[in-house]
Amino acid sequence: MSLIVQKYGGSSVADAAGIKRVARRVVKTQRAGNEVVVVVSAMGDTTDELLDLASEVAGRPPARELDMLMTAGERISMALLAMAIHDQGGVAQSFTGSQAGMITDGIHGKARIIDVDPHRVRTALDKGNVAIVAGFQGMSRQTHEITTMGRGGSDTTAVALAAALDADVCEIYTDVDGVYTADPRVVSSARKIDRISSEEMLEMAASGAKILHLRCVEYARRFGLPIHVRSSFSDHEGTWVLPSPDDKIKISEGVALEQPIISGVAHDRSEGKVTVVGVPDIPGKAAEIFGIIAGAHSNIDMIVQNISTRGTGRTDISFTLPMVEGAEALDALRAAQDSVGFDSLIYDDEIGKLSLIGAGMRSNPGVSYRFFKALSDAGVNIDLISTSEIRISVVTRADLLDTAVRAVHQAFDLDGQDEVTVYGGTGR
Ligand code: ADP
Ligand code: ASP
Ligand code: MG
Repeated sequence: MSLIVQKYGGSSVADAAGIKRVARRVVKTQRAGNEVVVVVSAMGDTTDELLDLASEVAGRPPARELDMLMTAGERISMALLAMAIHDQGGVAQSFTGSQAGMITDGIHGKARIIDVDPHRVRTALDKGNVAIVAGFQGMSRQTHEITTMGRGGSDTTAVALAAALDADVCEIYTDVDGVYTADPRVVSSARKIDRISSEEMLEMAASGAKILHLRCVEYARRFGLPIHVRSSFSDHEGTWVLPSPDDKIKISEGVALEQPIISGVAHDRSEGKVTVVGVPDIPGKAAEIFGIIAGAHSNIDMIVQNISTRGTGRTDISFTLPMVEGAEALDALRAAQDSVGFDSLIYDDEIGKLSLIGAGMRSNPGVSYRFFKALSDAGVNIDLISTSEIRISVVTRADLLDTAVRAVHQAFDLDGQDEVTVYGGTGR
């Protein structure tokens, strides 16, 4: 008997028909002789709608209450799915994150898992139930508060449960057939990737490919757990995210697999850019600035410091961060303007980030040239640049991002044969 963890995203449980369809799939998996744990997201765009409602009643809703509100979305889907499974002759029990033993720290909106104690889930399975767990939520033992793990965090709930229960496989069901060489909603000719190393998937997720939550990939890598990303609307084989590149070779059984140079192109529209203008060019100022940002719990992405303007002894520092964290970070910086001694702050949220990812970049010269040439031919101006060993990222104007993604995708011959099917979801 295998233990399978299946996670169904919002588009898979968007309405009653979707929930019944998922229930059929779950019951079928169980009847085939498996133990099944299901993690569910909120129905359709419920989480966004709840956030919209919150901002209608309050300018800056308290983080604790936002978490109370958002966790309700997943509780609706878990109970409805349990009912649908019962209706189809199965037995299921649903659990909130805290009931399922998801213990997190106390940071609302981006809590980290610190322990998983799924004994109630285990007991439910032992009694022959399907166990259904509400995604992206947990509880802090310190504060005794309910927390959420950040947008898209249900993927991480699934992987954490799979690791804690020693599952045989973790399946992430979504609205496309797997991980593609680019977001199929932007590049309709993108190609499905059959197997990808977690190293490359980490860079894709960190660069905005929201098909998988970044922390779910980190978690799976740490526990050596393969993830199968696939569609709940078809029976097609999806994409295997493999914890080590060696597995890639193993799975292909003797076929000498040369890694492709480039795995894909990712984009991100969710960041804003802060420029701190006129920072005194003396030791310690960058540390002061990023200390303030860390205090506001912001996750910085790209950082650029310009050479100081001759004779002024001052420089500008720009960095990107999630747009939702922009207001808090700016408030914190403004409060420290006199002590840091900078001149002013500029905030720009009309930016987009594009990244090219591939493990083969390490050993193939000329990738950067081809990348920048593609952007230049498409008339895209570049604002910031950053690189890792296996990634090049640039910031551009938001309205040119789609053009830039398509140009780079084509320049690296990533296009597939057919148009990708997007089965559901609104892409919100
Ligand atoms: P779910 O609700 O199932 O969690 P998400 O909306 O979070 O689904 O993630 C699935 C979406 O991710 C797809 O519909 C697609 O638009 C987007 N996406 C972004 N990059 C990629 C990629 N490289 N491959 C596949 N999908 C991608
Ligand atoms: N419902 C949450 C969100 O929309 C969590 C998730 O779907 O993973 O972000
Ligand atoms: Mg998701």
